[in-house]
Amino acid sequence: MRIIDHFIAGGHTGAAARHSDVFDPNTGQVQARVPLGTQADLDAAIARAQAAQPGWAATNPQRRARVMFEFKRLVEANIDELAQMLSSEHGKVIADAKGDVQRGLDVIEFACGIPHVLKGEYTQGAGPGIDVYSMRQPLGIGAGITPFNFPAMIPMWMFGVAIACGNAFILKPSERDPSVPVRLAELMLEAGAPEGILQVVHGDKEMVDAILDHPAISAVSFVGSSDIAHYVYRRGVDAGKRVQAMGGAKNHGIVMPDADLDQVVNDLSGAAFGSAGERCMALPVVVPVGDKTADALREKLIPAIEKLRVGVSTDAEAHYGPVVNAAHKQRVENWIQTGVDEGAELVVDGRGFALQGHEQGFFIGPSLFDRVTPDMESYKEEIFGPVLQIVRAADFEEAVALPSQHQYGNGVAIFTRNGHAAREFAARVNVGMVGINVPIPVPVAYHTFGGWKRSAFGDTNQHGMEGVKFWTKVKTITQRWPDGSPDGSNAFVIPTMG
Ligand code: NAD
Repeated sequence: MRIIDHFIAGGHTGAAARHSDVFDPNTGQVQARVPLGTQADLDAAIARAQAAQPGWAATNPQRRARVMFEFKRLVEANIDELAQMLSSEHGKVIADAKGDVQRGLDVIEFACGIPHVLKGEYTQGAGPGIDVYSMRQPLGIGAGITPFNFPAMIPMWMFGVAIACGNAFILKPSERDPSVPVRLAELMLEAGAPEGILQVVHGDKEMVDAILDHPAISAVSFVGSSDIAHYVYRRGVDAGKRVQAMGGAKNHGIVMPDADLDQVVNDLSGAAFGSAGERCMALPVVVPVGDKTADALREKLIPAIEKLRVGVSTDAEAHYGPVVNAAHKQRVENWIQTGVDEGAELVVDGRGFALQGHEQGFFIGPSLFDRVTPDMESYKEEIFGPVLQIVRAADFEEAVALPSQHQYGNGVAIFTRNGHAAREFAARVNVGMVGINVPIPVPVAYHTFGGWKRSAFGDTNQHGMEGVKFWTKVKTITQRWPDGSPDGSNAFVIPTMG
């Protein structure tokens, strides 16, 4: 059986006591095994990172940026191989897998400009003969713990900025699709980053805990489900680290009566079912305002959903592929049953779907629920599968309240032709990322990504300037070069620059 090894000290290591299976979700077969690392594996990575990081931090930012430029070139040159690898472990279709790599590359492009954004602030003459300036310095060693659903983009969100800022980075990717992260680390080495600047350790809770407790790691960035995000946040902060921990989501799409319904149906189909719904910015809840809008939308949605093609991830015609593993397939199907038991109307049932020739694959057909209500568990929790729920709202106020009061606050969208309604909605809704006639409002790399409420713990977003702030610490220098004449100030009174 093929082993997807750690990437420590620029190479692959040896035996491990525990392993986890990596599936091909298209066939349901195990295609490789990944070691579940221990404290000793982490210690080996830390030792190498500690040896490499001071030199990397002292390398001028322009040279660090050149490594990023070369990394970008290498990833682009290898994008077909990376997308293929990603798709075969995750199950998302190839075009979507390329998008996963590309959205990560966007952050690398941002990181190519790091010399500019790392410039500090300077005030000449802040007091008599006194200048004040600040500089951003790297933290040392940072770690990233990432989910299965974006195995290229999310690691690059983190290490792109962290490494460009002068840190060494240890990545603990999802054990469900670990190959792409390892390949990215190989390419970073090839691009010219010193050995030890980007390393990959595999594992489960044992490795995560070792990272959270390790005194040599200064900051941890986590993306995954909310309970684990909260746990990671608490444990990491207790250990004195800087932690940002992004969690789950349940994004709503508000459809106003004046919206272009054909456009909405097209947007919703992709946003709800693309990547089999396994996106933290998917739109699994649609909120039509008024029964007339709801009925018209439902009528258009049904045929659109029935036309969706579910296929193997290499099928260029498929809209989406299998979910990541059998346990997740079961979980999604259980949620569908819960929805039925709670009294929601199951309009299209995707359970029991089998793809001919791939009967063991982890496929689920698309499902549509109507008359879902806010008290239902299947509404309150994240399903993370190809399931769209219609929650009918009587008016605009109710539509603003639904996403605002939900436990998650990652993304939300409003579809309308009314600029005033859109503006009101964007200002008032209690959610971190808002789309106006944009179904998946993932901000571009030079802005920042982050939800609110149980979708994110900590106070700093991913990438953009927020990422730079997270991966650096500010040092502020107050300087005076006396000319030898007495300044007459009372040294016992706090200086006031007056
Ligand atoms: P997950 O929480 O199961 O796993 C995330 C990471 O935590 C993995 O590296 C995993 O190995 C590790 N982990 C798993 N169990 C652990 C435990 N008990 N203790 C410590 N660490 C543990 O998430 P997933 O299923 O890989 O990813 C899907 C989830 O991620 C969804 O909830 C989705 O909404 C969320 N997500 C959020 C964002 C965001 O930016 N808010 C982005 C992508 C995905």
